Amino acid sequence: MYPAPFRFTRAKTIEEAETLFGKSQDARYLSGGMTLIPTMKLRLVAPEDVIDLNAIPGLSFARRDGDRLVVGARTRHADVSASPEALQAIPALIHLASHIGDPAVRHRGTLGGSIANNDPAADYPSAVLALNATVKTSRREILAEDFFTGMFSTALEEGEIVTSVSFPIPRRAGYAKFPNPASRYAMVGVFVADFGHTLRVAVTGAGPCVFRHTEMENALTKNFTPETAKAIRISPDGLNGDLHGSAEYRAHLVGIMASRAVEAALA
Ligand SMILES: Cc1cc2nc3c(=O)[nH]c(=O)nc-3n(C[C@H](O)[C@H](O)[C@H](O)COP(=O)(O)OP(=O)(O)OC[C@H]3O[C@@H](n4cnc5c(N)ncnc54)[C@H](O)[C@@H]3O)c2cc1C
Repeated sequence: MYPAPFRFTRAKTIEEAETLFGKSQDARYLSGGMTLIPTMKLRLVAPEDVIDLNAIPGLSFARRDGDRLVVGARTRHADVSASPEALQAIPALIHLASHIGDPAVRHRGTLGGSIANNDPAADYPSAVLALNATVKTSRREILAEDFFTGMFSTALEEGEIVTSVSFPIPRRAGYAKFPNPASRYAMVGVFVADFGHTLRVAVTGAGPCVFRHTEMENALTKNFTPETAKAIRISPDGLNGDLHGSAEYRAHLVGIMASRAVEAALA
């Protein structure tokens, strides 16, 4: 027997969305629906209320703001990959967005939905962490370092809405992923961002949650070459092993993807 149908409400403002959320016993926000709808269809979640964020104005944009690129939470992956501002500021972000899933997913899925969901194999968390971005929400600003707290979990409180992400613009950056041949999610994805004074490397797909690789950062700070990245021995300890690939295989891929990301950054 299927549970009773959910209530669907299209919020017109952030405040209305949060109020509706607060009144419900079990609510979910709907952005691109690329994760929420399949999980509802599979009966993995059965919210009482689905609150659609798609009619709220001002959540879809990509614009330069001084030395940062600010992207609205409801900006679809396809719109990020077509954005001249993003291309000019952080070409690696264009590369990342244009390699998410398939065209249907890219035309519905959003930046805010992706990071709120924090799938361990999602691409965007690596860019948010490597670029040391700030996540803006309906209530506060959260540094990337504090935002991703574990597998499918984030620092977001109940009902809190991601409104935009502010990315510092690096001197150079690159992203490379080894996609799962079926879903295109990252088996392993590595984002490398060089700010001149500091260099950050974030890895997605390999572990339970996106993480920084400090040994790789230290080595690349001394010598920013693909060979340096490839030469680092990556420990499989704590990495994911599943039917798609063992922890050892993913560890190997981290070095290879990091070297390709450095190549891309140098290109
Ligand atoms: C076949 C397929 C292939 C995919 N391949 C990839 C891939 O290669 N790489 C990749 O990174 N991703 C991939 N995805 C995921 C996709 O790109 C979306 O980013 C992801 O599904 C979530 O974004 P969404 O906008 O669809 O969110 P939704 O499905 O609408 O929401 C997801 C979750 O986030 C919450 N949420 C949504 N928006 C907000 C917000 N603004 N504030 C707070 N909470 C919010 C929702 O309540 C829900 O819990 C794939 C998905 C599918 C179906």
